[in-house]
Amino acid sequence: MRNGISRVALIGTGFVGSSYAFALLNQGVTEELVLIDLNKEKSEGDAMDLNHGIAFAPTPTKVWYGDYQDCDKADLVVICAGANQKPGETRLDLVEKNTKIFKSIVDQVMANGFDGIFLVATNPVDILTYATWKFSGLPKERVIGSGTILDTARFRYLLGDYFQIDARNVHAYIIGEHGDTELPVWSQADIGGKKILDLMAEKEEYQEEDLENLFVNVRDAAYHIIERKGATYYGIAMGLVRLTKAILRNENSILTVSAYLDGEYGSDDIYIGVPAIVNRNGIREIVEIELNDKEKDQFKHSVEVLTNIKDKFF
Ligand code: NAD
Repeated sequence: MRNGISRVALIGTGFVGSSYAFALLNQGVTEELVLIDLNKEKSEGDAMDLNHGIAFAPTPTKVWYGDYQDCDKADLVVICAGANQKPGETRLDLVEKNTKIFKSIVDQVMANGFDGIFLVATNPVDILTYATWKFSGLPKERVIGSGTILDTARFRYLLGDYFQIDARNVHAYIIGEHGDTELPVWSQADIGGKKILDLMAEKEEYQEEDLENLFVNVRDAAYHIIERKGATYYGIAMGLVRLTKAILRNENSILTVSAYLDGEYGSDDIYIGVPAIVNRNGIREIVEIELNDKEKDQFKHSVEVLTNIKDKFF
C-alpha cells in the first residue's frame, strides 16, 4: 500500500462488479476504488452514482471511472468482467469466451506495472483464476479466485435455517469446483463444536434426506436464481468484499477460495475451492482438512473435471 492508501481496481462493472463496488463503499473497506469496463459509459455512470453516496458512507472513499493505467498503484485488482451464464448454460460452457477476454485484460493490467493481488470472480472461476495466474506470471499466492466462498455461505445459511442457528455459528465447507462437481464436507461440519452428523442422531425430526436436499439446493442455487432474475450478484458481491477485507486488513481469515494446489489434497497444477488462510500477501497457506473416503473420491472427481477443461486451454 502506498503511504497507507489502499486502492482497489475493479474490472467489469456489470451486475456483480457494481454490486461489489456498492457493498465495498458501504463497508468502508478501501480508500480508492477505480472502475474499469469495456462499456465506458456504464462504469462512468456507476462512478457518478456511487460518488453521490459518499456523504452517507462510513469512511471517505475516492471513486472514479478509470483506465488500465490506474492499475499501477492498485493493491488489488478484482475481475468481474466477462460473458455471463445464460439460462441452461453451465459455467464451464463459458470457458472459451472468457479465457480470451481474460488474456486481453490481464495483459493490460500487467503492462501497466501492477504488482499486487488478483481476485477473480468471473465464471468458470477456477479455470479463469488459473488463466490469470498463467497470463500474469505472478506468484500463485497472489492470484485468488472466489472459488466456493459463495457456495459455502449458501450452505451455512441453509444449515442455519434448518437447525435454527445463526449461520455465523455454522462451520461447514463446500469445496471443489465452483459448479456442478462441488461437494459438502459433512464429515467436518459442526455447529458450536458439535458435529452436524452427531446432531442428526439427536432428534427424530432430523432426516438424512433433508441434508441431501439441502446440499442440492446449495449446488443448484445459481440455476434457481438465474431462472427467476437472470443473474446472481448480491451474495457474490458480499463474498468478494469479505475477501477484500481479509486481504487489505491482513486478517489471516480462513475462507474457501480457489487456490493453486501444489500437492495439497493429493493434487497439483490446478486452481480449485479449498479452505485457505488469506492475508495481505494473498494466500498464506491452504488448510488441509481431513476428508472421509467418499469426500476424497468426490474431490478427486472435481479435480479431474477441472483438469480436463484446463488441459484443453493451457
Ligand atoms: P454482466 O454481463 O452484468 O457484467 C459483465 C461486465 O463485463 C459488463 O459490464 C461488460 O461490459 C464487462 N466486460 C466484458 N468484456 C470486457 C472486457 N474485455 N474488458 C472489460 N470489461 C468487460 O455480468 P455479471 O452478472 O456481472 O457477471 C459477471 C461474471 O461473474 C460472470 O462470469 C458470472 O458468471 C460471474 N459470477 C460469478 C459468481 C461466483 O460465485 N464466482 C457469482 C455470480 C456471477
